Amino acid sequence: MAVPLHQAIRVGAYVMKQHLLGRKRYPLVLMLEPLFRCNLACAGCGKIDYPAEILNQRLSVAECLEAVDECGAPVVVIAGGEPLLHKELDQVVEGIIARKKFVIVCTNALLLEKKMHLFKPSKWFSWSVHLDGDREDHDKSVCQDGVYERAVEAIRRVKQAGFRTIINSTLFDTADPERMARFFDDVMEIGVDGISVSPGYAYERAPDQQHFLNRRRTKDLFRGIFARADKSKKKWEFNQSSLFLDFLAGNQTFKCTPWGNPTRTYFGWQRPCYLLGEGYAKSFKELMEETDWDAYGTGNYEKCADCMVHSGYEATAVAEAVSKPWKAAKVALTGIRTTGDMAPDIPLTNQRPAQYVFSRHVETALEKIRAEQAGASKPPKTVVRHVAAEAGD
Ligand code: SF4
Repeated sequence: MAVPLHQAIRVGAYVMKQHLLGRKRYPLVLMLEPLFRCNLACAGCGKIDYPAEILNQRLSVAECLEAVDECGAPVVVIAGGEPLLHKELDQVVEGIIARKKFVIVCTNALLLEKKMHLFKPSKWFSWSVHLDGDREDHDKSVCQDGVYERAVEAIRRVKQAGFRTIINSTLFDTADPERMARFFDDVMEIGVDGISVSPGYAYERAPDQQHFLNRRRTKDLFRGIFARADKSKKKWEFNQSSLFLDFLAGNQTFKCTPWGNPTRTYFGWQRPCYLLGEGYAKSFKELMEETDWDAYGTGNYEKCADCMVHSGYEATAVAEAVSKPWKAAKVALTGIRTTGDMAPDIPLTNQRPAQYVFSRHVETALEKIRAEQAGASKPPKTVVRHVAAEAGD
């Protein structure tokens, strides 16, 4: 079982409690991005294309933990940017574990061997190493040779040191089902504890706009991969709910749950979701209460048309598994169906056109940063300090 039993029980109990309390919207996973700076520049990444002044900002330990407390989600995923570039990441992780929350640190692993001694293995803590495919596919995806080998070596080291370690893979339209299946075999052989997989989201700021998947191709690709599971040398363990995987294979009609994975970055609480940044709330409460949720999601908004990303749909799948456990049980018993008709898709006829609002919050933040640097104003609440660029640290 890829999701540890104690985690499944604790998260299941949390979801059940929200249902019993009649809460319509509640968070499941806090996506915490304490920085945008990275030591790679992947073609499909929509997170790192900011001016240096923004990339040099960090959320402090106190701000990170305040976000954890404000949000209350049982799981915290720390992403970025490359989180290991944050010099106080160990303190952030310690603080989250002390709150009895599950914490997953996403990393490209380039700094993992150097920094792993700052962390302790714990049932609350996992590394999630970014690997988009085999050596050739991953190095191409991250636009740098040799990264796959370094990541695999780092995975071996942290596993030897006793850390729970999963991989996260983002798939684009260049992914080949047979090669992905063999890649999943390889990572299971290496000894990872689970695989987290998702189609890429077409970030408007990503340098490569050519290779994002549309919904039909996503479903065909995942059917092609899952159909090869029977021939695998070792059982693939996914760190995701079976209903989300079933959705990727085209067997479920789900609407996204953008508030399920609320996202806190330097700019604030991102609206409406981890993938789209169309405004920022000052507090989690403001995000939940003042976002026009009905304006987003597949069928409502053009930018959501092709989205099938885990940060939007995993929370939907988990809520479905809790409210209709027989559906999850059926997938668990019979496996993911890879042939036959697909579930109907949400019609796109009434979706509103895309709005391009990306630069507004960047410009506002830059004005604030420059004003602080000039000593012309007090630091805004979210900006605690400036640090030098640490790329390649
Ligand atoms: S479909 Fe949902 S999760 Fe995906 S980009 Fe739109 S609002 Fe975000």
